[in-house]
Amino acid sequence: MSPWSKRMLVAAMLIWSVLTVGAGWYAMHGKGGSASAANRSSGTAAIINRVKNADSASAQSSKRSDPNASPPANSPGIAALTPGSTTAPNATSSAPSASDAPPRPPRSLQPIPAHASTAGFGGRAGSLDSDGPRAAPPRPVSKGVIVLDPGHGRGDPGAVHHLAGGSGVDITEADSNLRSAELLRDDLIALGYEVYLTRDGEGQGPGAPLPLQFITSDLYARVGLAKAVDANLYLAIHGNGASVPFLSGPETWYCGRHQEGAANEKLARLVQQAMMDALHEYGYNPPDRGIKEDAQSHHSGDFCQFVVTRETPTPAALLEFLFLTNDGDAKVLLDDRAHVLLAQRVATALDTFMKERAHQP
Ligand SMILES: [Zn+2]
Repeated sequence: MSPWSKRMLVAAMLIWSVLTVGAGWYAMHGKGGSASAANRSSGTAAIINRVKNADSASAQSSKRSDPNASPPANSPGIAALTPGSTTAPNATSSAPSASDAPPRPPRSLQPIPAHASTAGFGGRAGSLDSDGPRAAPPRPVSKGVIVLDPGHGRGDPGAVHHLAGGSGVDITEADSNLRSAELLRDDLIALGYEVYLTRDGEGQGPGAPLPLQFITSDLYARVGLAKAVDANLYLAIHGNGASVPFLSGPETWYCGRHQEGAANEKLARLVQQAMMDALHEYGYNPPDRGIKEDAQSHHSGDFCQFVVTRETPTPAALLEFLFLTNDGDAKVLLDDRAHVLLAQRVATALDTFMKERAHQP
């Protein structure tokens, strides 16, 4: 055997030894190692992952036998490792018996799509996925990009409802709009849309009514978002206000003097009907104030006044759910069920609009 061949043989034997020892160590300590092995170590990311893997593996084995049980009290820090976790509503707190496999840990009710973090609520992107280290779920093919614009906020309350006797305000339009928008966002994401909100909170105001230029520049910023994300549809969500208390009921505005004027009218009609359906389902029957073309209400008859529906290049509409200045309407707006029903109906309406638009020649 030549010296070169000998060196090759020695090298091959060395590699073989390393591989053999390594495989043996892995069999003893690697994947087969349990949470107890992990518990001996301090909390590095790798260990956290292994703990979660081990827990997930055991949870999988008990999946069918006890789907609603809560984790054992000594479950290794699931809650601490997974911010934003949600416990199943029917979870129980009873400890498992010794014969039971460790039950499945709590999980979020719905997996949050990876793209939800772009939807103006980044905090929820970290929602619990108890099946192990969070791998990005397969991103569904988006059915379209929708921008929801909860009107006002950022220091501007919009219309408000005053308590009897002028003793304060029990609901602002800004809050009401945001609640509807959040619910609608969730419903649209569930339907397969990519959704952006123009705001996700109130923001800090100056403590006094905002100067008009602040409000106007904010409106253009909202339009800017729709352009930046290349939206397919824009829906502004508002409540109404009037100087007289008897005005009541929903209405929907659109800009006819617009490259999408015909589509805007169709969208407004669908949204208006959705609002009426939601209110009827709720058990409230206000007047149907119908759809309104913006330019016709301008003195020129030729200029749409709402910045967001005029300047957004996509089909757009602006709904006015109910009047904050009407006691009966405000009572409905104070009830979350009304917002839930509104979101469901409007989500269906927007889905109908998007589907029909997609099938146009
Ligand atoms: Zn408004």
